[in-house]
Amino acid sequence: MFSLTFSFFILGLIIGSFLNVLVYRLKDVETLLGRSFCRSCRHQIRWYDNIPLLSFVLLKGECRDCKSGISWQYPFLEILTAGLFAFAGAYFFSPRDVSSWLETAWLLGIIACFVVIAAYDLRYMEIPIILLFVSLGLTLLFFTLQFHSGQALWSSRIGLGLFGGAAVSLFFFALVFMSKETWMGWGDVWLGFVCGMIVGLPLALFMLTLSFTLGAFVGVAGIFLKGKSLKSQVPFAPFLVVGTLSTVFLQHIFPEFIRFFLL
Ligand SMILES: [Zn+2]
Repeated sequence: MFSLTFSFFILGLIIGSFLNVLVYRLKDVETLLGRSFCRSCRHQIRWYDNIPLLSFVLLKGECRDCKSGISWQYPFLEILTAGLFAFAGAYFFSPRDVSSWLETAWLLGIIACFVVIAAYDLRYMEIPIILLFVSLGLTLLFFTLQFHSGQALWSSRIGLGLFGGAAVSLFFFALVFMSKETWMGWGDVWLGFVCGMIVGLPLALFMLTLSFTLGAFVGVAGIFLKGKSLKSQVPFAPFLVVGTLSTVFLQHIFPEFIRFFLL
């Protein structure tokens, strides 16, 4: 069991280092496959300086050529992705249950997309549309494959997912419309649809409560610690991402707890 979780952790480290590259290259429309280079001196990065986590530690967070600092985003996203992958592997994957393979694969895909969406929104105050489509496509595909003909469509995961997505995105649409885009942006409306779809009804309410509570705490902390005003724009995608992934994990690990909350 330990070695299986550890394998997911290592896979997460490797995928995480690719996600770091995505955060930058989706913005600059650079090729995704080219060799990595230092963002400061443009020197190509040697293969042995490109090992997830390890290289950052060995290089003490500095470029070998120009000694400029390497962003903390690199080790942070790698550890985050690795941790989430290990968690997903430990709780969702069981080698003898083929249907769990499908669910784990879907979840790893969502985690990968969401890590980039959150980091991208923090960095650029924007949500990469391509990843919204990828996570929406993955979810539709997974829910469709899970659907079996004896089920009523409206009470299946795909039906409840579509209702959940519609409810969350309508709510966000109202917020964007009323605040004239000062509280949140159009990207959040689309991300809200994907998140609402993933957790479905009625858990979409739980997910929203969690995201807004988290956002409020961090917002208040930001005002006190950094002297940010109430008006400074806060990227909301990271909170939605945390709220959604937490809901997915909580529902799976403590189904009773979630049922209790909803009553
Ligand atoms: Zn450099």
